[in-house]
Amino acid sequence: MVLEVGVQKVAEFIKKAELIAVLTGAGISTESGIPDFRSNQGLWNTFTEHKLSTNYLRYDPRDFWSFYKELFALKTAEMYQPNDGHHFLVKLEELGKRVTVITQNIDGLHHKAGSTTVWEVHGNAKGAYCPSCMNPYPLDYIMKLELPVCTNEYCKEILKPNVVLFGDQVKHIDVSVEAVEQCDLFIVMGSSLKVSPINQLVEIARIQPNRKLVLVNGEPTTFDSLFDVVIHAPLGETVRKIWTYYHL
Ligand code: NAD
Repeated sequence: MVLEVGVQKVAEFIKKAELIAVLTGAGISTESGIPDFRSNQGLWNTFTEHKLSTNYLRYDPRDFWSFYKELFALKTAEMYQPNDGHHFLVKLEELGKRVTVITQNIDGLHHKAGSTTVWEVHGNAKGAYCPSCMNPYPLDYIMKLELPVCTNEYCKEILKPNVVLFGDQVKHIDVSVEAVEQCDLFIVMGSSLKVSPINQLVEIARIQPNRKLVLVNGEPTTFDSLFDVVIHAPLGETVRKIWTYYHL
């Protein structure tokens, strides 16, 4: 669809919607300087999945933690700032829309931007916890140690990151499904929709034929045919145009 026609339609959908559910992926944060995983410049290869698993954490905890810290650039995580994509969702709330953000991202930028309801289904990179006593640990503590362990003397367990690892259950799935089932408008922003089970939210959204579904992503996904409007364009440019049309 031509960008101008697409954004005009999305602006109309937003005008009519009261409840909006938004699924975001790594693509919403690339304009903040955080690389995604699967587009051409992305960080993904098959080894990544193996090394980001609970099994690998058990098998070689030292290498797991070294890889994890490097992959998510934890030293610099705090310096990233939300961009127009994140701010757009806050502005929708300011218009009086009830917006639920379901994010696959672990960078915390939706919270930083000021979104009220954010479900971080893959957790966050803000810290770690002891899998035995569940004690939480902040990023500062993790960064000090090559192999972060629980300080509880009866425990001494190797810590697990707050990020959901491969082989673990995603978080907040019930509330995410509920938000999608109740919304008038479902928007996907910056996701390849390759990660299960979160990509199934698209099919759940489509069950109700009157609900409007919008996808904004830099490249096609295997779910494109389920959406009412598909925009393959950079997010920042797209949301700025939607905002302009909304106010025309
Ligand atoms: P993905 O890497 O699989 O897909 C990102 C998609 O965003 C790609 O299809 C790409 O074309 C698109 N994209 C990139 N920049 C864009 C832009 N400026 N405008 C429009 N589209 C753009 O990401 P995913 O679907 O979220 O799955 C990756 C997994 O990796 C997630 O589960 C997430 O937990 C994790 N991850 C998170 C971050 C983060 O927190 N910022 C970064 C990398 C990976």
